[in-house]
Amino acid sequence: MKKLDGKIAVVTGASKGIGASIAKHLAAEGAAVVVNYASSKEGADRVVEEITSTGGKTGNSLLPKAIAIQADVSKRAEVERLFTQTQQVFGKLDILVNNAGIYEDVSLEDITEEHFHKHFDLNVLGLLLTTQQGVKHFGSEGGSIINISSIVSTLAPATSSVYSATKAAVDAVTKSLAKELGPRNIRVNSINPGVVETEGTHTAGIALGNFRKQVEAQTPLGRIGQPQDIGPAAVFFASADSAWITGETLHISGGLR
Ligand code: NAP
Repeated sequence: MKKLDGKIAVVTGASKGIGASIAKHLAAEGAAVVVNYASSKEGADRVVEEITSTGGKTGNSLLPKAIAIQADVSKRAEVERLFTQTQQVFGKLDILVNNAGIYEDVSLEDITEEHFHKHFDLNVLGLLLTTQQGVKHFGSEGGSIINISSIVSTLAPATSSVYSATKAAVDAVTKSLAKELGPRNIRVNSINPGVVETEGTHTAGIALGNFRKQVEAQTPLGRIGQPQDIGPAAVFFASADSAWITGETLHISGGLR
């Protein structure tokens, strides 16, 4: 018996990076997983293929082990469709991982309304919309919501005021919704990673060169993270191992604060 046998999970932004690792870790513990993506169908299909090719059962052999569903989670109509399709295929939801997010560093003089709204629309509004729709599909036994925040919510580095503010908002949302949803036995926790090597951090230049060396020099464990450093914590928060834990923020950053 695996920790998540019979559970259904939606992981937003799971076509690559941290979300893909979380989807694979949840599936390895027995969950059936919806791999959400915005534009990278190929990436999402690859994650589904990796999950299904490793075999395993959902506890109900008629159900698929993983499916990909496209939806821009910053848009209400697309979020509604994501959960309607999930319900049609799996009939319920037990675990929601709010991972989809963007990050762009800009200095104060370069902040635009577009930069602000792009970050807040996905990182904060998107997370609220998916949670609002997702909880409608949780059963009477409750479930687990895992928000992917960041150490920047408290570290707040220079040229990251907008992104850091979105993640500080995520921490506040986590604590507030833990209280609001506790009576329904829906637990809400966040994972706050440090710099993790992903497609996104490569594109942003964060996981490369001098910046990477500087981060590693400040990190007690001497390295940046890999996506597989995050997945096991998501399994912990999704499973009964954390049955009496809600409203918490877990920093996974090699000790960097
Ligand atoms: P990534 O490599 O850039 O991947 C981002 C994922 O989010 C992709 O699957 C992407 O889908 C999806 N996505 C983007 N916009 C979306 C939208 N509007 N609707 C649905 N999905 C969308 O990112 P990552 O580095 O793994 O980061 C994932 C999360 O961890 C983010 O919330 C980020 O803030 C947080 N985080 C990352 C780090 C780090 O160092 N990597 C550290 C702390 C926190 P497509 O590929 O289809 O566009």
